[in-house]
Amino acid sequence: MIIVLLGPPGAGKGTQGELLAARLGIPKIATGDLFRAAVREGTPLGLEAKQFMDRGDLVPDSVILGILRDAIASPESARGAILDGAVRTVPQAEGLAEELASIGRRVDAVLLFEANHAELIRRLSSRTTCDVCQTPFRGLEPGTACPRGDGGRLIRRQDDEPEAIQNRLNVYEELTAPVVEWYDSHGIPVQRIDAIGEVTDVTARAAQALQSVQLAS
Ligand SMILES: [Zn+2]
Repeated sequence: MIIVLLGPPGAGKGTQGELLAARLGIPKIATGDLFRAAVREGTPLGLEAKQFMDRGDLVPDSVILGILRDAIASPESARGAILDGAVRTVPQAEGLAEELASIGRRVDAVLLFEANHAELIRRLSSRTTCDVCQTPFRGLEPGTACPRGDGGRLIRRQDDEPEAIQNRLNVYEELTAPVVEWYDSHGIPVQRIDAIGEVTDVTARAAQALQSVQLAS
């Protein structure tokens, strides 16, 4: 089952993706991590991406989606994968559909994690991130040692400052909200998950939603 995660910043997609992946026994593929690894390891598409970056250009969707396609075609993803950060715009949704079709796969379900703006702003503005492992934490002050014990320190990321948060939410509304309509109109069910509450409760809601998709297919 190929599952696309959608949701505004602060809705907890990353955390939920990891919990769901563990529960379903399929990998979670975070496009950002995957992309950085491909560049670091110098895979053919990673090298292509690096050429754009070295020129100061934006890496085109086609290159990033190619890297994603190769990861989904790998044996680890034979039973499925959870895609986080793969689709932020309608052209990316279209591109992903094409890449998956080329390897005989398709998006089976879309999970949309929803929370109101006040809650998202509250969550994001209380977030700090480890400068080593990049894991986000809530309720821990900047300067605290990373609870993972990797020697990192927690920092407040620039994009978790209040003005930046509002801007990120605006960008999400403008670019990503239409993606939901795109999937709905292409017969791929979008499951709306209430992302407010305990982390484990949200995971249970998401797992239940996926079960209903599986039963319907
Ligand atoms: Zn850390």
